[in-house]
Amino acid sequence: MSGKRKEGKVRKISGVKGMNDILPVDAPLWDFLEATAESVLKSYGYQQIRTPIVEETALFARGLGTVTDIVEKEMYSFEDALNGDNLTLRPESTAGVVRAVLEHKLTYNGPKRLWYVGAMFRHERPQRGRYRQFHQIGAEAVGFAGPDIDAELILLCQRLWDDLGLQHIHLELNSIGDAEERSRHRTDLIAYFEKHKNLLDEDAQRRLYTNPLRILDTKNLAMQDMVNSAPKLMEYLGRKSLAHFDGLQTILRDNNIPFTVNTRLVRGMDYYNRTVFEWISNELGAQGTVCGGGRYDPLFEMSGGRPTPACGFAMGAERLIELLRAGNTATAAESPDVYVVHHGKGTQLEAFRIAETLRGTGLTVILHCPPDGMESSFKSQMKRADDSGAVFAVILGEDEVKGGYAGVKALRSGMENNQQQVSLDGLTDYLIDQMVGRDSSCEQACSCDHIALPDY
Ligand code: ATP
Ligand code: MG
Repeated sequence: MSGKRKEGKVRKISGVKGMNDILPVDAPLWDFLEATAESVLKSYGYQQIRTPIVEETALFARGLGTVTDIVEKEMYSFEDALNGDNLTLRPESTAGVVRAVLEHKLTYNGPKRLWYVGAMFRHERPQRGRYRQFHQIGAEAVGFAGPDIDAELILLCQRLWDDLGLQHIHLELNSIGDAEERSRHRTDLIAYFEKHKNLLDEDAQRRLYTNPLRILDTKNLAMQDMVNSAPKLMEYLGRKSLAHFDGLQTILRDNNIPFTVNTRLVRGMDYYNRTVFEWISNELGAQGTVCGGGRYDPLFEMSGGRPTPACGFAMGAERLIELLRAGNTATAAESPDVYVVHHGKGTQLEAFRIAETLRGTGLTVILHCPPDGMESSFKSQMKRADDSGAVFAVILGEDEVKGGYAGVKALRSGMENNQQQVSLDGLTDYLIDQMVGRDSSCEQACSCDHIALPDY
């Protein structure tokens, strides 16, 4: 035992800072978010991909760029003590998805629309909306060069906000051009910042020659005026980049998606080119970006593959959950349909059989298992049945088992036939009839806690 003993007690170990438990009380909201996202993504033809949480460190160092925040200071990297491999907990998923696409030649027969959901890890300072383990839902459309796919990804996000019932998430858009356009801009930008060196904070000084574009992204108020007058990348874009950006805007306007062009918007990773976008909410304080995305045409070549144009996004699940919670999003109650109560000789095995049969029809059934391993009284079992939120208690005593029937008690208010004896053969049909009746009566005025019925 490794825990330190204090006053004869074993030290309780807490969770790791910045890494959260998602408790049962919040699980329905997470289910709602993930199920809604999955259904929207599928409706656009995206297929799920699951890549490992751990990748070779070089994958991120090379793909994300060595001077990015993530690679400089946020990665959980370690050496596998057993074989010396340098590994990293993924800080994002695009690099891993691109690796998997190349490794399995997924684009051999044409482009692919992919999506993922999962935990990401960044060693940041934990604060509201910023954690060390967090979750992203993302999409990657690989093998598509035109602005139509950029637009599709944005439309998909808008549909998701609508389906989640989230309003006031606005879209900011920019084009950061191609490598050659950025390089000409960079030269002028560095010259401009050098002229205003006295105004640059420590972070900006550090980035001046490594990643000057990121200085435009500064949150430092004292630098805003200077940064606002800096040379704008947009003015360096050539004909092709401008046409791409125009094409995207035309589709968005035609689909009534409002957006703001923010010429200072840049993204954290080196692999982006042309389109970059962020969806921002004003209801989350400083961490208002709920989704970031863009085009990353250079990444496949940077990863040793053939040139493959691609575009994607990643949304932060914790920030979306916070919005859902603030909007009091209602999720279906997670109450069982039936709670099976049993007491007396021979009743336990019958209770198991009944519970299994009912589950086989799609009902949710909790079988009473006494906490102390001893038989519980009917009274305490009925209290647990009630507390569980179940719609019915199925009650089995020795008499019931001998007589081939069960007691069925309706536990929620507003239900007729409060208690019945029902033959074991007809129990499934009886319960289903009752549930269906109860469900349709909910269409009218109804005081019961509405439950969603499975399909029969
Ligand atoms: P930020 O500017 O907030 O640091 P980022 O540019 O680092 O964001 P991305 O790498 O683009 O973020 O990730 C996409 C989304 O994932 C973000 O818009 C955000 O919603 C979410 N996200 C990123 N980092 C965290 C984190 N540490 N905790 C919670 N969510 C995060
Ligand atoms: Mg960040």
